Amino acid sequence: MDTDVIVIGAGLAGLQCARRAERSGHSVIVLESEATIGGRVRTDSVDGFLCDRGFQLLNPAYPAVRDWIDVPALGLQKFGVGVVVRTGETSTTLAHPLRHPRFALETLRSELTPRSDLVALARWLGPTLLRPSRASHAARDQTLHESLDEAGLTGRFRRDVLDTFLAGVLADSTGTSSANYVRLLMRYFALGAPGLPRAGMQALPEQMAASLAEPVRLGAAARTVREAPGGIEVTTDHETIRGRIAVVAVGPADVAELTDLPAPATHGLTTWWFRATDRPQAQPPGVLSGGPFLMLDATRPGGGPAGSIWNAAVISDVAPSYAPPGETLVQATTLLDRPDGLAGEGDVRRDLERLYRTSTRHWEVLVHHVVPHALPAQPPPLGDRRPRWTGDRVLVTGDHRGTGSIQGALVAGDRAARAVIDLLAQL
Ligand SMILES: Cc1cc2nc3c(=O)[nH]c(=O)nc-3n(C[C@H](O)[C@H](O)[C@H](O)COP(=O)(O)OP(=O)(O)OC[C@H]3O[C@@H](n4cnc5c(N)ncnc54)[C@H](O)[C@@H]3O)c2cc1C
Repeated sequence: MDTDVIVIGAGLAGLQCARRAERSGHSVIVLESEATIGGRVRTDSVDGFLCDRGFQLLNPAYPAVRDWIDVPALGLQKFGVGVVVRTGETSTTLAHPLRHPRFALETLRSELTPRSDLVALARWLGPTLLRPSRASHAARDQTLHESLDEAGLTGRFRRDVLDTFLAGVLADSTGTSSANYVRLLMRYFALGAPGLPRAGMQALPEQMAASLAEPVRLGAAARTVREAPGGIEVTTDHETIRGRIAVVAVGPADVAELTDLPAPATHGLTTWWFRATDRPQAQPPGVLSGGPFLMLDATRPGGGPAGSIWNAAVISDVAPSYAPPGETLVQATTLLDRPDGLAGEGDVRRDLERLYRTSTRHWEVLVHHVVPHALPAQPPPLGDRRPRWTGDRVLVTGDHRGTGSIQGALVAGDRAARAVIDLLAQL
């Protein structure tokens, strides 16, 4: 036997599973098909800029992050708790009045925050803020849009702010995600201030992998997983590894390749990363200021963006480490469930000009990430999804066996490790 546990996939779930199993005294081999660890949490370094593979944020209020990650070591650069909303000619900053008192009046007096919507928001979210997350899983579930309608949250805050913000977070503009899940996410937004690690989002999985006894085997795609007498055999292109148990911690796009589980439905998005300047490259860059907030577009009559961009941000304002000194980094996210999800560069530039009221003529595309399987679909009822045995010794985990988030992937990986530890104790 080569090892106790073979973990397939070095995303957050696989890494957390490996860490937990090792800490309880078991030997673990982690196989990763790519040349780097991290799965969907990876960062490209382009000309001195850090561009995450799809815009995403780390929320330090996630319980799994609080418990298992050394957040101070990541040097989180935090977003403001609020958004800037572009409506035609005007833009309005809506921010948490206690955390950003400077914007309290603008927020509370805005036409975008009618009192009836704020009362309905409190009705919709209040119980989840107060009761533990387990209770939210058990509550009656429905789609996000049905649930907001039922709570009477139907005014401009819903149409022009909430729907657009949540569509970007969930990569789902249809409003068919589980309302219970979205309430949990909102709870974490209310409790924490999400941000970006100094060295990019990939610093998160790298921190996790650093504590493993045996380095992750990179470029080692598992091709088959087979139960064999007394254990499991996993083959890669180069070797056959024998273990007592295997954990398949691949993402939703790959799970059907290695197991007999069907491929989970997913939502996708694209992120454009721009070096923003108002001058030709040879001259010093001009200054574009977006503040610490996400930019939303609510220009379309009836709500939502007039163009393809569902959110944008001047990343270097929030996370200076993401750009060389004096440079400006902007991200713009489009959603693949929209007809214009794959909008071309010209359309995206035009939308950014409208949002930020500036020319993008001299902006340079650093990289454009298309992520078709960013998040597993999470329709109601959310239920209590858990890692799943597909044989006596093969356990499937990942965010698609939990919830589609950093929190969900970490918990799914940890639960898998606990199940494996229990089984090993009985063998
Ligand atoms: C663009 C984007 C934005 C996001 N935004 C947020 C956010 O703001 N907040 C949040 O909480 N969450 C966000 N998420 C979700 C979060 O990143 C994921 O839920 C989480 O990273 C999933 O981790 P995982 O380990 O389950 O899967 P993955 O990260 O997909 O890891 C699976 C790993 O398995 C490997 N693998 C696949 N097949 C094989 C094989 N045959 N052999 C060996 N290895 C294999 C893959 O290469 C990969 O490394 C976002 C995700 C994306 C993509």
